[in-house]
Amino acid sequence: MRFRTLQLMRLFGIPVIVDYSWLPVVGLHVWLASAFYLPQQTAGALPVWEYYVFGVLMTVLLFGSILAHELAHALMARLEGIKIYDIQLHIFGGWTRLAGEPDRPMAELRIAVAGPAMSFLIGVLFILCLLVVQAIAPEYPLRLPLRETFRYLFLGNFVLAMFNLLPGLPLDGGRALRAWLWHRSGDVMEATLLAKRMGVGIAYMISSFGIFSAFWWGEYLTAVWMVIVGFFLKNVAESDYRRRQRVHTAEIAQQRNEARWRIEGTVGSVMTAPAVSVSPDARISEFIDHTLAEHRHASFPVARDGRLHGMLLLERLREVPREQWERLAVRDVMEPVREDYFITVRASLDYAARKLESSPAGHLAVIDADGFLIGYLGPGDLKIPAA
Ligand SMILES: [Zn+2]
Repeated sequence: MRFRTLQLMRLFGIPVIVDYSWLPVVGLHVWLASAFYLPQQTAGALPVWEYYVFGVLMTVLLFGSILAHELAHALMARLEGIKIYDIQLHIFGGWTRLAGEPDRPMAELRIAVAGPAMSFLIGVLFILCLLVVQAIAPEYPLRLPLRETFRYLFLGNFVLAMFNLLPGLPLDGGRALRAWLWHRSGDVMEATLLAKRMGVGIAYMISSFGIFSAFWWGEYLTAVWMVIVGFFLKNVAESDYRRRQRVHTAEIAQQRNEARWRIEGTVGSVMTAPAVSVSPDARISEFIDHTLAEHRHASFPVARDGRLHGMLLLERLREVPREQWERLAVRDVMEPVREDYFITVRASLDYAARKLESSPAGHLAVIDADGFLIGYLGPGDLKIPAA
């Protein structure tokens, strides 16, 4: 699902990233608005260039509204103390990538609801704009296209809010539902499972409604779009659930194993745990601003959901020109996983000392029997038992 991406801007320090697949969608929206929607709504009363001016305005304001929705999620997450990777805009709208998960249901609820609340607010703002334009004298020449533009935007923002409030993951309503169930039962995994099932159900309903509308009303374009959206939602709901399940299982395994690792004379007795790791998806700039600013290591294990993806060496990072820090992700510059970058938790200290000496990273990632990253081993860790 990853294509090449492009950074549009930074808002409140948060990178706004677009997928290249998003650019034709913006163009398509300008065209549909200028060549079809606006002429239809105004009975073709205006010159063609004017339709394009308003078509572009509609498009910029619509995508700006989507961005504002995501920004509301991001700023609320920041208020809850969660770091933000970036906001991504793509053909189905947008999403905010958080560097962590809220650990309390109420925090999750606030983050989930912030987006739709922002969309409602913007919708109301456009209603006010619409009322102002209506009040202006009828002979004012821009009245007609402006009115249609504002009407489209208030409807668009209301639809955005309502759609996102459907109570199933991965939609905002699904996150809110999950938070509420979690708050009630205290069982985050059960809450996630129910919210995912609702999400998959909603996805099937959207797809079925699309197929129904094709046969009933002959709305083929809408039908194809709804089937695609349904399919996309179902996939995201399921992969999001699997990811949460993995993280949760890894957490439980880690808690259970914690005591077992501390075996005399093994790597487990001296390692630094948990390991400071960095996600393969993190931008280089994020890594430098956050992880490196706090931890002055020479190398960092690259891991996602406890799985080792590679090793990031500062030595290698120094070769990357500063202009590329925003564009490149950790995955682009890391070293792939090699046997001499990691060691198992049960390995002996003698073996660890020898391996550490020949390690190109100067450190070793420590993994458990299932391959999960659980710690980190540097020369400093080995000094204590050797003395
Ligand atoms: Zn949202």
